[in-house]
Amino acid sequence: MNTNQNLFVALRDAFPADLDGVAIETADGPGAPLRYRWRDIERATAMIANLLASLELPEGARVAVQTEKSVEALLLYLAVLRAGYVYLPLNTAYQAAEIEYFVANAEPSVVVCAKKNFGWVSKIAFQAGTKNVFTLDDDRTGTLLDRAAFHADTHEPAQKSADDLAAILYTSGTTGRSKGAMLTHGNLLSNARVLHDYWGWKQGDVLLHVLPIFHVHGLFVASHGALLNGSRMIWFARFDPAEVVKRLPEATVFMGVPTLYVRLLAESGFGREACRNMRLFIAGSAPLLIETFVAFRERTGHTILERYGMSETIMLTSNPYHAKDGERRGGTVGFPLPGVGLRVSDDNGRPCPAGEIGGIEVKGPNVFKGYWRMPEKTKEEFTADGWFKTGDVGKVDADGYVTIVGRSKDLIITGGYNVYPAEIEGYLNEMPGVAESAVIGVPHPDFGEGVVAVVVPKAGAQPEPAALVAELKSKIANFKVPKHCFVVDALPRNTMGKVQKKELREQHSTLFRSS
Ligand code: AMP
Repeated sequence: MNTNQNLFVALRDAFPADLDGVAIETADGPGAPLRYRWRDIERATAMIANLLASLELPEGARVAVQTEKSVEALLLYLAVLRAGYVYLPLNTAYQAAEIEYFVANAEPSVVVCAKKNFGWVSKIAFQAGTKNVFTLDDDRTGTLLDRAAFHADTHEPAQKSADDLAAILYTSGTTGRSKGAMLTHGNLLSNARVLHDYWGWKQGDVLLHVLPIFHVHGLFVASHGALLNGSRMIWFARFDPAEVVKRLPEATVFMGVPTLYVRLLAESGFGREACRNMRLFIAGSAPLLIETFVAFRERTGHTILERYGMSETIMLTSNPYHAKDGERRGGTVGFPLPGVGLRVSDDNGRPCPAGEIGGIEVKGPNVFKGYWRMPEKTKEEFTADGWFKTGDVGKVDADGYVTIVGRSKDLIITGGYNVYPAEIEGYLNEMPGVAESAVIGVPHPDFGEGVVAVVVPKAGAQPEPAALVAELKSKIANFKVPKHCFVVDALPRNTMGKVQKKELREQHSTLFRSS
């Protein structure tokens, strides 16, 4: 019996017997179509793992990666697992201030970045004590691959137990500082296995992979799903709806954030014909509008399966796949997955009866180990009896379907990406002429929510909204930058002195309404 609980070993065990079959085929990007066989995955991950091993990194070393989406970036992830280190993916949109924080906090032993960013990224990394900085571009070039080429293409996967760290995913914190969610080999593998069964993965499945791979959805849910099933992936580095529609007939499984479904529906050529071989459309990461759910069913005959999860827990709930388990209900995120405990509690920690709204708390083998180097924060986010407080507000109806109704932490989700107002407020408040600010999300027809800033000037100062936005653009990822910035005399406050964001949201609720 194999006692190595390294996730890579489980994924590799699922490769088909014929290693010469195509595992991944690129649909866009330099050189497309490029075909990677299962044997290529086996060999390339061995070479990169051998390179990492040759660096004599300490036990539990972090490998931080900020690169464009490419098959090689996925191979790097698998190689980090294989070598027994901890993978730390970073959103490609992150700018200097953010990277500086992640590197200082995570203290990675290895940083991999795009060639064009090597100058500033390596400076940050070397100053923080990182000894190895490699480059990797989406055209199969960079020093990582140059160096890996000198290493053997066989490698014995590092011995790991289920409780060993496999990845750290940084989630933005309500205080404006990100927290690193520590996920173990056991967390990732148990969740991947549950989803494999629950979503009925079967022989012959082909996944259309269109999501970024720095996030739980594209990196874990999508990639693990296909790998654990030995399934071919059609690999898009960028989501182009027209191109995706062209390739859909070759696929059986698609995973997307709600915005992608809206964009598919905007394609005139998209309909039943394009979906003729499809088995399953999965949505998540943000609420899927009921209009999208209904329009998609009418257009394609397929009922989108919505699921719910987060970086700290991977997947928690899912609408049923098999009709015998129930219907897929729009506006709900389905049932807790097998092995996942989910309960709704009121502000005093007492269980809410069916249909009543409260804080969602969860338990299970998928729930993370804690926040990296934040034991106090970790303690705060768990109940005394060991349930994780998700920060999401929702309810469970009498039939057991879970609905998410809001986010207790004022999180904004724009185009499937999370934006924490406190982080943007922190940057704004530091700017000259700014006394204070409030950042909110208001309904946006394309992105679900659009980020809006409301700023109060210092006495006598007249900050220019456009200049504030431009300054933010140079500091943080574009998706976090407010699309509108208002300068006002005062923020609305309650008697306790708390800023009334609800009032601000109402005030600006029609800002992005399409006329
Ligand atoms: P992340 O950690 O970036 O994956 O973000 C997790 C958060 O996204 C959750 O805590 C929810 O607030 C939200 N989320 C994920 N899936 C859904 C969904 N299907 N419906 C509503 N919100 C969702």
